[in-house]
Amino acid sequence: MSDTVPLRLFNSLTRSIEPFTPVHPGEARVYSCGPTVYNYQHIGNMRAYVFADTLGRTLAFKGYALRHVINITDVGHLTSDADEGDDKMEKAAASLGKTAWDIAAFYIAEFKRDLAWLHVRDPYRWTIATDYVPQMIEAAKAIAPAHCYELPSGLYFDVSTVADYGRLARATTDEGEGRIEEVEGKRHGADFAIWRKTPDGETRQMEWDSPWGRGAPGWHLECSVMSRAELGLPFDIHTGGIDHREIHHPNEIAQNQAIQGFDHDHGHLDCAQNSGARIWMHNNFLIDRGGKMSKSAGEFLRLQLLVDRGYHPLAYRLLCLQAHYRSELEFSWDNLGAALTRLKRMVMAIAQLRGVPSAETVRNNKLTPLLAQFDAAISDDLNTAVALTLLDEAVGTKKVPVDEKRAVIEAMDAVLGLDLLTLSRADLRLRPAAATIDEAEIEAQLAKRKEARAEKDFATSDAIRDALITAGIEVMDGDPLGWEWRLD
Ligand code: AMP
Ligand code: ZN
Repeated sequence: MSDTVPLRLFNSLTRSIEPFTPVHPGEARVYSCGPTVYNYQHIGNMRAYVFADTLGRTLAFKGYALRHVINITDVGHLTSDADEGDDKMEKAAASLGKTAWDIAAFYIAEFKRDLAWLHVRDPYRWTIATDYVPQMIEAAKAIAPAHCYELPSGLYFDVSTVADYGRLARATTDEGEGRIEEVEGKRHGADFAIWRKTPDGETRQMEWDSPWGRGAPGWHLECSVMSRAELGLPFDIHTGGIDHREIHHPNEIAQNQAIQGFDHDHGHLDCAQNSGARIWMHNNFLIDRGGKMSKSAGEFLRLQLLVDRGYHPLAYRLLCLQAHYRSELEFSWDNLGAALTRLKRMVMAIAQLRGVPSAETVRNNKLTPLLAQFDAAISDDLNTAVALTLLDEAVGTKKVPVDEKRAVIEAMDAVLGLDLLTLSRADLRLRPAAATIDEAEIEAQLAKRKEARAEKDFATSDAIRDALITAGIEVMDGDPLGWEWRLD
């Protein structure tokens, strides 16, 4: 893709849209905060990865060589973002009678399956926090003399030792967002642990020796160390959910300032210049008024539940793309159903393009403007909602060379990740887990019904229809989508 329209992105650090200028010409280096693997990810979490993936796909579309890192936190994240309370991993392990390592392996596999379902591409590197502990200890040792102090519970970062602490969160005091000081001896409410000592007389499943005693790294330190190890400081873009703008990312920034000060051998570093990443991007939340997204509330909204109810995962990806990533997005089954219908329409409208080779160049005067407008929309801080309407237009074009039409749809879909040219109508019809009748049986009954109707035997035809309704099958005569039947 030629770089005709410059890419512009909203930077949370400046709260403004800025042109993207890579640190390393031609490359885009991106770090995304990943999950803490003590439980399943809910669909709100998955919105964060759909966003990061769409950003990565856009950077590739704009011609940058993408180096994307997503971390997996398998140790050290406490039950509050301020890094206080119990260790989430150890707590989950204790409550399930398993090792923390088993818990991590299990939820990593579940997470990766959800990502694959959503067509989130594998990053250049998954960084697993426990693989980087020696580097975390080295980083803590390097910054400790100028920036940290030790308490009985761990090594704490003094937020007053860096310039502009909390600038990302727009916090007005060095107490951050009015957090309550829970650890005795902390100099400021916003000070946070970069090393947490295992309390005397206890053993953790995951613990390491350090100059501050046996213990585990702080969650914030993990991301600073892994991003620097894989991307170098400064890198281009750091992403995460909007909640991270308040505590986790300001703390990463403070550490990055300290680390870079150490690298360059000078003290106070300006936050805007030395935050570690040039652009900080945050996706807004998926909201569920039914309260099913709280992991503590028993069954919660995860992708598996959508699939069990017969919704294809890519309908959820489409739902995400219909909203701008910086807007809140309200989840409802109706909205998801509408997204599924939109996806079906697109898939059916281009079914005949599946076997067609793509044209090398697009010259058609109906198609070229659509591609240019698509480029403009996606380059405008990832306006996926507008980009989707342009995809709809491309799908609906008539009397254009099919190979060029396919090339345009392929280019757009490479950014949106909906797999339009591979999916079939049948792929989109999932069987709800609760359904008791199988598809072959439904198709057989429908064939019998068709025969009966052809013979004008309406009594038999109606009886078959009634039996199907009883089994939870809605027969859709005259359905404009040609869908024929649906499990209710
Ligand atoms: P966690 O596993 O809690 O660290 O969250 C993983 C990612 O999901 C982080 O980037 C969070 O900011 C993000 N996130 C959490 N809840 C939501 C939500 N309801 N909507 C969108 N993103 C979320
Ligand atoms: Zn992080």
